[in-house]
Amino acid sequence: MPELPEVETTRAGLAPHVLGRRITGVVLRRPDLRWPIPDEVGAMLPGRRIEAIRRRAKYLLLDTDAGSALLHLGMSGSLRVLGPDVPVRAHDHVDLSLDSGQVLRFNDPRRFGCLLWQPLGETHALLRDLGPEPLDDSFDGDHLFLASRGRRAPVKTFLMDQRIVVGVGNIYAAEALFAAGISPLREAGRISRERYTRLAAEVKRILAHAIGRGGTTLRDFISPDGAPGYFEQELTAYGRGGQPCPNCGTTLRSALVGQRATVWCPRCQH
Ligand SMILES: [Zn+2]
Repeated sequence: MPELPEVETTRAGLAPHVLGRRITGVVLRRPDLRWPIPDEVGAMLPGRRIEAIRRRAKYLLLDTDAGSALLHLGMSGSLRVLGPDVPVRAHDHVDLSLDSGQVLRFNDPRRFGCLLWQPLGETHALLRDLGPEPLDDSFDGDHLFLASRGRRAPVKTFLMDQRIVVGVGNIYAAEALFAAGISPLREAGRISRERYTRLAAEVKRILAHAIGRGGTTLRDFISPDGAPGYFEQELTAYGRGGQPCPNCGTTLRSALVGQRATVWCPRCQH
């Protein structure tokens, strides 16, 4: 599943190809993805210039002077910039033709992605209640500490709550908690400000590192036949239950926390 670093890498990879380009046509090969594609997408986009491509959480926004196309890659979606004659493959659901002659093509086999419309000056309902971006200055230990007071949920569940901070998925939550030495099972409301400061720093470090590595795989996002290049993860905890802890050799434990597979070291994380 594309996580925040993959979405950010997609944004950066698409930007040089779409910024300032005028959309000359919209092809919708089906009326819906996860949700129906609103009429505005086909009605408003043709003739408009793409003024910006932005990311908010795991959503991408293509801004025009009439409003924004709001995209989510879901579980299996990818966006590619292709020449005009590249044949359409299975699951190529949407094309935006650009005045460069290229086509921005959205492929999504499982159709958990979406293409929606955000009118100019409005914030789409899906974006309204989101917490801060993890790499913004407004996300820090104080934010986590204050938001967690009185919360009895396990800290891992708390950290993955998009209203607290966006874009910390299961993999990155596990890795950040391991790096910060905090047990994923610990009650969110009972963790000190100091430990949250460490946790926020680890979240930033791990996400920034993954985004930085993405820079080397940008080509994959615009290749006509390659699958999207999701990052080879350098994982220390996630997916390693039953293996020795890389720090201390203790067998890593695994359990479901908030219905999500969770791995931690019972010695290093408390
Ligand atoms: Zn350990």
